[in-house]
Amino acid sequence: MRVLRIALDLDGVLADSIYVWLRIWNESRKDSLTLEDVRCWDFWKGLGITLSEFHRIFYRAWKNWRSIPPTEPNLTDKVALLEELGRVDIVTSRPRNTEEYVLKWLNMHGLGNRNVVFVKVGCKKSELGYEFYIDDSPLNAEEIASAGKYVALYDRPWNRLVRDNERIKRIMNLNEAYSFIKECMSRC
Ligand SMILES: [Mg+2]
Repeated sequence: MRVLRIALDLDGVLADSIYVWLRIWNESRKDSLTLEDVRCWDFWKGLGITLSEFHRIFYRAWKNWRSIPPTEPNLTDKVALLEELGRVDIVTSRPRNTEEYVLKWLNMHGLGNRNVVFVKVGCKKSELGYEFYIDDSPLNAEEIASAGKYVALYDRPWNRLVRDNERIKRIMNLNEAYSFIKECMSRC
């Protein structure tokens, strides 16, 4: 039997890197943005900065990888549960200069021995060879569903406009992703 392949996203799904991003922003701009203020994917446009400025802060956030909290407790156990369903790769699209910090972060959170797939910024995850995705990007969710695949959409303020359908399911935690994938597997 063919092994099911699951792409598990990093930023916003395992690692709350936006938390440190906002802290750096607030400290340098004397601002007080919270997670709930990040209402859309390209929220940085509303702050009047360029994409490269966004990436500069993103780099600084990851350079501070020890400060980046996990999105939920017991990540190791939850990823192990997902692995009962198939092969799980941590698939993350990001600038190359943050990769070394990602590996350190994963190690610190008990995920150092997992397969990590780094993809270039702008690469369409939906075109990779996975049947299921766990992701927080509203753009990825729409593309994955359009490609005839399934996505467990990790609930975040910036993806709340995406509605569930037969291929997209909003989840509040990784255990709900497990239930969703299992249910899809029994249906298909
Ligand atoms: Mg993400």
